[in-house]
Amino acid sequence: MLPKTMLGNTGIYVTKLGFGALVMGSMQANMQPEEGAKVLRRAFERGISFVDTAHVYGTYEHIRKAKEGWDEELVIATKTPASDYEKAEEHINYALCALDLESLDIMLLHAARAGEDVFDERAGAYQCLKDYKKKGLIKAIGVSTHNVGTVRVAGARDDVDVIHPLINMAGTGILGGTVGDMASAIEAASHNGKGIYAMKALAGGSLLERMDEAFKFVMGLPGIDAVVVGMVSEAEVDMNYRIFLGEAVSDEERQSTFKKKRLKIVEAYCKGCGKCVDACPNGALSMVEGKSSVDESKCLLCGYCTPRCPEFAIRVI
Ligand code: SF4
Ligand code: SF4
Repeated sequence: MLPKTMLGNTGIYVTKLGFGALVMGSMQANMQPEEGAKVLRRAFERGISFVDTAHVYGTYEHIRKAKEGWDEELVIATKTPASDYEKAEEHINYALCALDLESLDIMLLHAARAGEDVFDERAGAYQCLKDYKKKGLIKAIGVSTHNVGTVRVAGARDDVDVIHPLINMAGTGILGGTVGDMASAIEAASHNGKGIYAMKALAGGSLLERMDEAFKFVMGLPGIDAVVVGMVSEAEVDMNYRIFLGEAVSDEERQSTFKKKRLKIVEAYCKGCGKCVDACPNGALSMVEGKSSVDESKCLLCGYCTPRCPEFAIRVI
């Protein structure tokens, strides 16, 4: 049975393992809503009742279908990429309608790579989140970020309830500091009553082989309430659930789940720096028209290239 915990001082209880909807969306696996809903439903049946999504993931329909006829409590967190008030308002109303909800549990500024002045730069959008919280249409607000400085700033603000930071034991993707710096910023924010749920605990797939250790590392950090992990198959839900709870999972089971995976270059993120090409020991990557491209016949899914990408453009899905 998955334990639940209160996210900071929000009064919202979430399962310590949450479902990250990014990977099933159009940016990665591009699953059909019915297919995605089936995987989500499996997670609900396993007791995973916390779902993280975002306006840009394109997964509201998957989630809406999964919760149709599901009577037990779910907590859904989403995010807006808006900078101004009007756009944020549009995104809130779209989420309420597309997810078929009367109020949103958690709505964050989607600010993965933004710096610590994000609350000034996107003041209009954040004011909108605050106003909708006052109206009772959002229960908790905050920010998602890869940046240590942003966690520090958000952790000290009275108008932030929840922070969704990137952290993993390899330090992959952390901006503006080390793993230790991020861990300290998270701990300080938690001391200030902020709810913290982590992303990228498996470093975009490069820590899949060390999943047990990777979960333990993140969940053992002071101040982390929960972690969300992307899942695209029922087998993966089962495996994540069992490993998260510390159950034994055989190598055969792990391999059969990993076998279904492939490497994907998210073209929209790739800046064409070529660092991944140099990192691949198998000659599976090359530059094609300024973007990295993978030859799947040569790719062994070793994951050596994923942590070398500064843009987080390489995913094992
Ligand atoms: S390292 Fe990342 S950004 Fe650079 S070429 Fe490879 S995929 Fe693109
Ligand atoms: S996962 Fe391994 S084999 Fe595949 S492209 Fe990356 S480094 Fe090369």
